[in-house]
Amino acid sequence: QKVVIVGASHGGHESAIEILDKYEHVDVAIYEAGDFVSFMSCGMQLFLEDKVTAQDDVRNFAPADIESRGGHVFNQAEVTAINADQKTVTVHFKATDSDQTVPYDKLILSSGVTPMTLPVPGADLDNIYLMRGYDWATKIKAALTDDRFHKITVVGAGYIGIEAADVLSSYGHNKEVTLLDRNDHILERYLNTENIAILTNEFEKHGVNIKTGLNIESFVGENGQVTAIQTDQETIPTDLVIVSAGVKPNTQWLKGTINLDRHGFIQTDAYLRTNLPDVYAIGDAILPLSIPANKPLPIALATTARREAQYVVNHLFKAKPTHPFKGVVGSSALSVYDYHFVTAGLNEMTARESHIDFATSFYEDRQRPAYIPKNDNPRVYVSLTYNPLTHQLLGGSVLSTADLTAQGNVLSLAIAQKLTLEDLACADFFFQPGFDRQWSLLNLAAQHALGNAP
Ligand code: FAD
Repeated sequence: QKVVIVGASHGGHESAIEILDKYEHVDVAIYEAGDFVSFMSCGMQLFLEDKVTAQDDVRNFAPADIESRGGHVFNQAEVTAINADQKTVTVHFKATDSDQTVPYDKLILSSGVTPMTLPVPGADLDNIYLMRGYDWATKIKAALTDDRFHKITVVGAGYIGIEAADVLSSYGHNKEVTLLDRNDHILERYLNTENIAILTNEFEKHGVNIKTGLNIESFVGENGQVTAIQTDQETIPTDLVIVSAGVKPNTQWLKGTINLDRHGFIQTDAYLRTNLPDVYAIGDAILPLSIPANKPLPIALATTARREAQYVVNHLFKAKPTHPFKGVVGSSALSVYDYHFVTAGLNEMTARESHIDFATSFYEDRQRPAYIPKNDNPRVYVSLTYNPLTHQLLGGSVLSTADLTAQGNVLSLAIAQKLTLEDLACADFFFQPGFDRQWSLLNLAAQHALGNAP
């Protein structure tokens, strides 16, 4: 059997190692359009902060890792077409500017997404950067110490924009940072109101100028270089822009062959199969089933891509899949200055957009018993999102200067298991005053949501 994988990132990597570890006599080949194989954008913030061994180490795998298991990895090898009748793909090898036809028995598409520049005048000016992949990481790193770039504007205050704003405003780079978003608040797709307010305050304390609820009309330039951003409210002078305001799926080459939705995401069935026989799709290029929303949502995470890859590989050679892909919750964690937060499942905004009835509850406490001095007993903030009738947990987030991010995995499991506030309120979690209260944090947050907590 010959398996062809398109894209050498999280989805492609997981597919290849799962196949090579689970099956014998399967020929696996990964084709990657880029030059550097498998840069891990998840590690970009750590790279920018000088917290990694070397830029070239920030990767999911090196080709040798797959080749030593018997697989093949081709870089600068862009798959340009699927020829479904012949069960072949056309691969363009950039180094030799030549095409090759490659047969497959099974084809796994993990071609991911590309960050979008904004569709406004001036978007093609110089010094408008994006935040994904090896090449942009190199450029942003250079900009951190480049004195020509003093005023820097980050467009998009989601997870990735937040990472950029944090790095730019810290670590002694002396940059004047503005964070823009058309939503009314930063991190609006991730956190609920109270936790957003705490982090907004934290950014402002670190000198980041937050401007939300505005639309960018154009990038203004001089001599081909960006000098300002024109919004519907004001002109913001800037030397450099980092755009992290959305993505487009890398699926243009599939148009007319594979069914795509109106945004270009690959459409799959519940078994992650495309409309073509033996062609599967995973990762950021598809919309996975959200367990709490019970519908496909954009949950673009490495965790999602890897779980989908594992599912596809487990069913790859079965005549019939035994069960559908069960979906994902969508959990992510991040440090913002001295704070750490984790979020799982739906929040106010994503629940509203999914037309799901929801209520929220906000619980604030100290991490440990009151006899622990305050300087060693940080505040903790928990927000829960739940169904107001059934009390089924839909989402939650935990924020503190203590690293309580592992609580997000507890929340994720509870959401995936469709537990209720009542379940969480009395779940048997440990107590030890070095770590928590007599009742554990999530017990207390759920009890509070039920009106029972102290
Ligand atoms: P991608 O990573 O998008 O990669 C697709 C690959 O396919 C690319 O290398 C591309 O060159 C190649 N390709 C595309 N078209 C073709 C073609 N026709 N032929 C050959 N090759 C092709 N997720 C987390 O879970 N945790 C995190 O902490 C986290 N942090 C992140 C931080 C940043 C700054 C960014 C940008 C993302 C982060 N993510 C994180 C998201 C995570 O990186 C993505 O969800 C994940 O990379 C998706 O993997 P993928 O396999 O779908 O595709």
